[in-house]
Amino acid sequence: MDTTTCRAVVIGGGYAGVMAANRLQGSGKADVVLVNPRPRFVERIRLHQLAIDNDDAVEDYATILNPDVELVVGTAERIGASDRHVVLASGATLDYDYLVYAVGSTGHVPAAVRGAAEHAYPISEIEQAQRLRTRLSELPRSAPIVVVGAGPTGIETASEFAEAGRSVTLVSSAIAPTLSRPGRRSVARQLAKRGVTVVDGPGATVAAVGADHVELVDGSVLASELTVWTAGFGVPQLAATSGLTTDALGRLLTDETLTSVDDARIVATGDAAAPSGMPFRMSCQAGLPLGAQAGDTVLARWGNTPAADVSVPMYAQCISVGRDGGTVQLQRSDDTPRNFYVGGRAGAFIKELVCRQTLQWMRAEARKPGSYKMLKGPERTGTSAAHHSPHGFLTTSVRPQSADERAESFERVRPVLHTIADEILGSAARVDVALLRTRQQWMTTELDDVDDVELHLAALVARKALETLCLDAQR
Ligand SMILES: Cc1cc2nc3c(=O)[nH]c(=O)nc-3n(C[C@H](O)[C@H](O)[C@H](O)COP(=O)(O)OP(=O)(O)OC[C@H]3O[C@@H](n4cnc5c(N)ncnc54)[C@H](O)[C@@H]3O)c2cc1C
Repeated sequence: MDTTTCRAVVIGGGYAGVMAANRLQGSGKADVVLVNPRPRFVERIRLHQLAIDNDDAVEDYATILNPDVELVVGTAERIGASDRHVVLASGATLDYDYLVYAVGSTGHVPAAVRGAAEHAYPISEIEQAQRLRTRLSELPRSAPIVVVGAGPTGIETASEFAEAGRSVTLVSSAIAPTLSRPGRRSVARQLAKRGVTVVDGPGATVAAVGADHVELVDGSVLASELTVWTAGFGVPQLAATSGLTTDALGRLLTDETLTSVDDARIVATGDAAAPSGMPFRMSCQAGLPLGAQAGDTVLARWGNTPAADVSVPMYAQCISVGRDGGTVQLQRSDDTPRNFYVGGRAGAFIKELVCRQTLQWMRAEARKPGSYKMLKGPERTGTSAAHHSPHGFLTTSVRPQSADERAESFERVRPVLHTIADEILGSAARVDVALLRTRQQWMTTELDDVDDVELHLAALVARKALETLCLDAQR
């Protein structure tokens, strides 16, 4: 064995696992084996599209994975941490120097809700989405469908089904509860436009699911030939059943470098990681940087250098509302919502771009190792939301007067503006152009029209980034 390279096994070929595998293999310091139950990459963020049959939600690993990574199609059943091996369901074992735990998350249909496990259809995994598509194809167009849960997945599913002419009711105690009030209004308007019936409020919690109906806790009964369950996520229990320390849900508990609290040879990433018991929002937005950082941690440990603390900026919640609608809710880097969103067609456009960009980032890291760059996230001391002013992403929002003050206020928010432009454009060169145009306009903006400097600049940069995209598309 080459003693200059370590053998790394990555369990789970999702967004975080692929990014970690690419980062490791591309370093030239690791030989990577990636274990995944399926031979193709699942674009989980498109599973609602697979269910309605307007996308297949899969991608060949050949297009996104470093060609030197060995892909083993299989399921890990147990991690033997003491002698560093993984046992697969096939009975085969894989030895490792370092293990990356990237098993992601799963849909969770609660056993406590009568009939839900039997009658409701989750949509969190590809087999579940395929089953849902089959069921849908058996039903007449007019059959009533109930979607339970109005987080991003429920909203995306309900709107996609309604746009395809289905009769959909979305049931949840609250619609898009993680969005700002303007963001929620944007979602509500677009759901109504697509004909989705919304049943929300304290009584709109599901008490039971039957073959042809849903019962709510307030006693009302909704007809439902197909009930889609999107409320709540779980995680695979592999870490827990292997005797490793997890959080209450089953995510592997790590320190701030993503290293297991039990074993310095095991590093966790993506939805299945709980750094310091304060996990990031389950998302590919966090999964990709977490994947790269998990790779960096393994390389640091292998090279006997200090591993860096995890840092992930969260910049948006991107929700599609059908194919030509959407709401992109901008977030502070600590993942709390700002009072600013991009809605409608522009929101749909950005969301689609982000979906494509997730594949691009993995592809780029496979071809040009180290090319995936991450911005810094906020300090992770408890809930960092407490460090922000309630009305903006700066602690003060003083209206600048002189040209110098304007320039200074622009520079102060430049990192946030950069994040917004990057989210839309995904290319450093184009981000620079958008920032330049934003700055030029800002320096001549009539200040009487500006209520809030930060929000104004955020809107301006989003507009300039979209203009840049349109100009590029016209060339
Ligand atoms: C319908 C839907 C829409 C979504 N939309 C968005 C969105 O718009 N934006 C966003 O940021 N997030 C979205 N998400 C969430 C996002 O998909 C997840 O947070 C993301 O996939 C997490 O990435 P991951 O790499 O940690 O895990 P995953 O992508 O889930 O990958 C984990 C992989 O590990 C494999 N695995 C599991 N157990 C084992 C085992 N024992 N052995 C081997 N392999 C195993 C799994 O099969 C899977 O391939 C959406 C999710 C759903 C379901």
